[in-house]
Amino acid sequence: MATNRTFTMIKPEAVANGDMGKIIDMIIEAGFKIKAMKLTRLTPERAGEFYEVHKERPFYGELVEYMSSGPIVAAVLEKENAVADFRKLIGATDPSEAEEGTIRKRFAKSKAENAVHGSDSDENAEIESNFHFSADEIVG
Ligand code: ATP
Ligand code: MG
Repeated sequence: MATNRTFTMIKPEAVANGDMGKIIDMIIEAGFKIKAMKLTRLTPERAGEFYEVHKERPFYGELVEYMSSGPIVAAVLEKENAVADFRKLIGATDPSEAEEGTIRKRFAKSKAENAVHGSDSDENAEIESNFHFSADEIVG
């Protein structure tokens, strides 16, 4: 995948709180094009697989339970410098450290329930996009 794509999820508490539309609006306003999007739900097994890199971390069990607790929105986004620009738009993992104007500052409840996911590298953006979407679900 080209370096101009990233992958995001709107996490369960943000979907449950009705913040989905406002978050998508902020993403589009920031200049990202939506290349794929769906409302879906992760089983605990799939959530565990998605966050496998955190398997040894103390919060892994809590993270898997949270990410499988309700519907999420998965999306592939495109913009120049997508990975870095999207991490900037979402803000720090802990909303108390997130800058004003970021998605997490506005919508995240806590460091665990932090509203959105953003890929941390081009390589992971591609892996994560392929985890959720087949090639024909991503528009050219
Ligand atoms: P994400 O990968 O979801 O975009 P991130 O890259 O900002 O978030 P990571 O370090 O990759 O942060 O952590 C993945 C997710 O695990 C966090 O978004 C959060 O939901 C949860 N998490 C991280 N640290 C903690 C913690 N100390 N306690 C509870 N949950 C945590
Ligand atoms: Mg991460």
